[in-house]
Amino acid sequence: MQVDTAIIGAGAAGMMCAAHAGGRVLIIDHAKAPGEKIRISGGGRCNFTNMYCEPQAFLSQNPHFAKSALARYTQWDFIELVDRHGIAWHEKTLGQLFCDTSAKEIIAMLRGLMQQAGVDLQLQSSASNFAGVDGHFTFDLQMPDKKVEVTARNLVIATGGKSIPKMGATGVAYDIARQFGLKVTDTRAGLVPFTFAEGRFAPLAGVATPARITAGTTGFDEALLFTHRGLSGPAVLQASSYWHEGEAITVNLAPEGTLLGALRDQRQQSGRRNFTTILAQHLPSRLVEYLGQEFDLSGNLADWSDARLTNFVDALQNWQLHPGGTEGYRTAEVTLGGVDTDELSSKTMAAKDVPGLYFIGEAVDVTGWLGGYNFQWAWSSGMAAARAIGG
Ligand code: FAD
Repeated sequence: MQVDTAIIGAGAAGMMCAAHAGGRVLIIDHAKAPGEKIRISGGGRCNFTNMYCEPQAFLSQNPHFAKSALARYTQWDFIELVDRHGIAWHEKTLGQLFCDTSAKEIIAMLRGLMQQAGVDLQLQSSASNFAGVDGHFTFDLQMPDKKVEVTARNLVIATGGKSIPKMGATGVAYDIARQFGLKVTDTRAGLVPFTFAEGRFAPLAGVATPARITAGTTGFDEALLFTHRGLSGPAVLQASSYWHEGEAITVNLAPEGTLLGALRDQRQQSGRRNFTTILAQHLPSRLVEYLGQEFDLSGNLADWSDARLTNFVDALQNWQLHPGGTEGYRTAEVTLGGVDTDELSSKTMAAKDVPGLYFIGEAVDVTGWLGGYNFQWAWSSGMAAARAIGG
C-alpha cells in the first residue's frame, strides 16, 4: 500500500492531522473505535478547549516550544470549527468549554472531516518494523483480515502517552522516537491523585473543600477532595504535575485569607460557643472533627487569644503533607515528558534530523493543565503537522 502520509494513532491529535493534511492519508489505530479518550473525557462531555489557553499553562523542558503551534491554531480556531458543525457548548468554570450533549459529537465531527478528506481509517490494526528508506518510510500493517507493507512519504506518530493502559495506551511513540535516534525525556504520571499511607484520610473520604495546593513553587486554588486512598480533586490533580517523588506539598485550607478576620469578628458575638462549632461554619464538619485529632481545638471561641487564632489559621494555611506516591498511569489523565522538544521543529512538529517524521499530541514533551489544555495541544500540534505536510 502506498500513501502520502501514514498516521499511527487515531486519537485527538491524529484525527485532527489526518483531516487536514491533504493527499492520500492512512490513519491506523489498534482500538475498535477512534478517539476513545475523547469519548470518556470531561465526564462524557469532553472539555475540548480552554478560553484562557496560554503557553504558561503547559509544562515542558522547553517552556517556549508550545508557543508557535498554539498561536497558529488557537482555542478560537477550534471553537469556530465546533460552531461550524453545530455542536452546542458551554463554559463550566475557569474558561473550560464542554459539549452540552456528548463528547461523541467531537468524535463524529473529526470522523466526518476525515471522511470528506478521503482518509483511510483502519481500526484494530497495528504497525511494526518501521524503517526509513530513501526518503520514504515503510512498515508492516497488520489489519484484522490481512497484512500489507505500507510505504509513506510522511510518518506521523500520534499514539499519545502511557496514561490509562487499560484503554490501549502503550508508550510506543517513545520506542519509535528512539529507533530513529530522537531523545525522549523521562516520563511520569500527571494530573493524578496522591496516595498516602493506608487509612490516613479514610475518615474524610468524600469530603470536598476549597483549597490551595502547592507543589514546588506552583499553587492551584480549586476543590480538594479526600479519598480512601489519599487526595484528589482539581487542585490536587493540577499540583500533581509539579510534584516529584519524596517532596512535600502544602495544603492551604483557608485559601481566601479571610478566616482569621472572620473568627476574630465572631469572637465578639459568639464567644461562648465551642470553637469547633464556629469552625464548622467555615470548613466541612468532618474535616473539623479530623483536625481536632491533629490540633488542640478545645475551648470556647472567647478562650482563643489572637495569638492562638493566628497560629492555628497559619497552620491551616501551611499544612505540610508528604504523599507516599500517586495512583500512577492507571488513573493519570496525562503523561508528563515524552519526545524531547529539542528534536522537533516547534512550527511543524517534524523531527529536525529525519525528514518526513512527525510527533504530535501527548507523545511530545508538552503537557497542559487540567481544563481543556491537553486537547488544545492535540488540536494545535496536529494542525501544525498537517499544514507542514499539506504545504
Ligand atoms: P490519544 O487521544 O491518547 O490517542 C492516541 C491513540 O493512539 C489512541 O487512539 C490509541 O488507541 C492509539 N494507540 C496507542 N498505541 C498504539 C499502537 N501501538 N498502535 C496503534 N494505535 C495505538 N484533556 C482535555 O483537554 N480535556 C478533558 O476533558 C480531558 N479529560 C480526560 C479524561 C481522562 C479520563 C483522560 C485519561 C484524559 C483526559 N484528557 C483531557 C487528556 C486527553 O485525553 C489527552 O491529552 C489527549 O487525548 C491526547 O491526545 P493524543 O491524540 O495525543 O493521544
